[in-house]
Amino acid sequence: MKIELHWQILIGLIFGIIFGIIFPTNFKLTNEAIARLEEKQIPSELIFQLKESEKNFVETETEFLKSIHQLIGEKEYAKYEKSILKESAYNPYLPYVSWMGDLFMRALKMIIVPLILTSIISGVANIGTADNLGRLGVKTMVYYMLTSTLAILIGLFFVNVLKPGVGVDIGLSNSVDSLDIVRLSFSDTLMNIVPTNIFKAFTEGNMLSIIFFSIFFGYFITRVSDKYRLFLTTFFNSAFEVMMKLTYFIILFTPIGILGIVASVVSEQAGDINKLYTLAASMGTYMFTVIISLFFHAVITLPLIMKYGFKANPWAHFKAMRSALLTAFSTSSSGATLSLTMSSVQENSGVSNKISSFTLPLGATINMDGTALYECIAAIFIAQAYGIELSILDQLIVVATALLASVGAAGIPMAGLVMITIILTAVGLPLEGVGLILAVDRILDMFRTSVNVWSDSCGAVIVAKSEGEVLNV
Ligand code: ASP
Repeated sequence: MKIELHWQILIGLIFGIIFGIIFPTNFKLTNEAIARLEEKQIPSELIFQLKESEKNFVETETEFLKSIHQLIGEKEYAKYEKSILKESAYNPYLPYVSWMGDLFMRALKMIIVPLILTSIISGVANIGTADNLGRLGVKTMVYYMLTSTLAILIGLFFVNVLKPGVGVDIGLSNSVDSLDIVRLSFSDTLMNIVPTNIFKAFTEGNMLSIIFFSIFFGYFITRVSDKYRLFLTTFFNSAFEVMMKLTYFIILFTPIGILGIVASVVSEQAGDINKLYTLAASMGTYMFTVIISLFFHAVITLPLIMKYGFKANPWAHFKAMRSALLTAFSTSSSGATLSLTMSSVQENSGVSNKISSFTLPLGATINMDGTALYECIAAIFIAQAYGIELSILDQLIVVATALLASVGAAGIPMAGLVMITIILTAVGLPLEGVGLILAVDRILDMFRTSVNVWSDSCGAVIVAKSEGEVLNV
């Protein structure tokens, strides 16, 4: 009996969850942990204290932090709590499965640059004329901007109706100093799309630059004499075929890869059940607001556009996308999911390589409906928690900056969290507010990434339909 891939992935996911719950990550000051702390610039008296403490039994996060607090005193605690916690994570069973997740993620990352490069070049070279390319480009961009804006408005509606932030205890917030905030201004981001060195862009995985270069390269293949054009088109079509074969091969390992990834994520969260309860109780409405809005956008808005605007069958397309969506959910990375998204959209939904290779890599980088919606809710939630009234104008600024932030966010886990600082700055909200949503961000990331990937795939179907392609959905 052959079990279909998405069922296998679901089984992997469930086993991952069970593993994470049975073997949660706790904390213990092992000798190795102390040795690692010694390497970081931690004062030797403190290391001595930790060594002498004989505190090497396993504790939950809350207990562990309490004992460390008692041991080293207020001032040192505030300073080193994070590093000590990080180095003392203790889970002897996790390595048995987490290596599968690591290996799988490495394989996905390995194929991403050559896959995008060959798929865009061959796709664009096959599109042919500049007219076609321009038309596809405009359609794709209109779809991206329109759906992201709709998503934000849905978020804005729910956050204003449900008011999850009103009455939230700000004392609960974590500090945010561990977030390394890398921010580029909007004009810098635009400027950086043109790489100064394309090989550097490849090695750094700089998506927008790679896409930019590939589109131009593909286009100018169509402008050279037949002898070269035919050779290069065949060459890149062949390379793309090979990359797709390799992608299918790696996709076969998705179920066990996801088992490893999910086991790590769940064990991290499951260590301290009490903490989870407190979080759920205080953050419940916030999480509910995000999830219900994402659900609304994914299940109502996008399918309605597909069905009534473009006569596509959303349900059939959803079934075609199951493996990719589950992978997006588990990896929290649109970038890592891209190869699955491309193969599902082409093989199952029947979109041509010409269109999917143009729309999907671009979509995975700039079209993030889920993230856009999330940014808007998070910013307004923070304003509500601090008791700050946002005027209509402020809310409009939130909408506009949420759109920019979602375009700028990379397709990697928790990229959206960092981008919220842009919105908070734009409307003058306290940056520490990010601490309020830190603890549940990783969980919500899974949901919003699935919506990001879903929207990209719907975009490919819509553009294909509008070009008159006959699809399976
Ligand atoms: N993880 C998301 C993605 O890859 C981005 C985000 O953090 O919102 O699509």
